[in-house]
Amino acid sequence: MACALCGGRDERRLFPARDKMFPGRERFSAVRCRRCGLVYLNPRPSPQSHAAAYGRRYFFSAENADQAQPVEHYWPVVRFLEEQEEPGRLLDIGTGNSPFLPLMRERGWQVAGTEVDASLVQYFRQQHGIGLHCGELQDAGLEGGSFDAVTIMGVLEHVSDPLSLLEEADRILARGGVIGLWCFNRSIEARLLGRFWLGFDAPRHLYSFSRRTLEQLLERAGFAVEQVYFRPVNYLAYSGMWAAARMRDRLSGSGRPVYVPRLPALLEKLSLPLGVALARSGASSNMYVLARKRNQQ
Ligand SMILES: [Zn+2]
Repeated sequence: MACALCGGRDERRLFPARDKMFPGRERFSAVRCRRCGLVYLNPRPSPQSHAAAYGRRYFFSAENADQAQPVEHYWPVVRFLEEQEEPGRLLDIGTGNSPFLPLMRERGWQVAGTEVDASLVQYFRQQHGIGLHCGELQDAGLEGGSFDAVTIMGVLEHVSDPLSLLEEADRILARGGVIGLWCFNRSIEARLLGRFWLGFDAPRHLYSFSRRTLEQLLERAGFAVEQVYFRPVNYLAYSGMWAAARMRDRLSGSGRPVYVPRLPALLEKLSLPLGVALARSGASSNMYVLARKRNQQ
């Protein structure tokens, strides 16, 4: 597979990547492009086996709506959008079970979204009265220049061709429109923890971006990056929690999916100083990138 960012075919194998959420026998390989530094799965699962890796037990499914990210998680993007724009037309790509669109609607935005999981589309209609387009953005047939803001949060790692997704987002944005992204950052924690870092959710994640590779991708798609914000989260603590939960479930043979979406309050408190230090030095595992459509001549 050629690199999705630079088209190169010169890669170095990093580590064998196994499914941490639903442990099984299957192994994948994480590689790094020697030309641009992008990290991705190669070979990657077929589209069928990639789709099958989600299912009802996945944490961001309709059945697990109570496990959705808390509203605070979205504040850096809310703040950015509202600093730049009067509430206008907003499209969220890959809405999942997130509370973001209902929040933005309350704040005066005209909201729309896309979601590939049909049960989440139904959940959203019932729960929030918001009709999402069921499917990929590229198939939604949206008119060029029809949105003032686009958000892509926790989604870019999952799509097979992130560059063409961003190019489509660029096309549907009006002149001067903005894009807000949240994704995991291949931080120092990622390098220290290797295959155990929870920010790379293979095989659902096909890519793992760093600040540099994400900025390059955005620039290639027609955007100019304006702000990057790192949230103080400590993945050393999360990964330790994950390893303990995995061990416990292995010993009890329960076969439950092992995943650690939240830390216990005490551990969160104890791990905060390291999280803050990482965020301040631009090295935490949670990255928010805010960019603007470049004006074309
Ligand atoms: Zn590359």
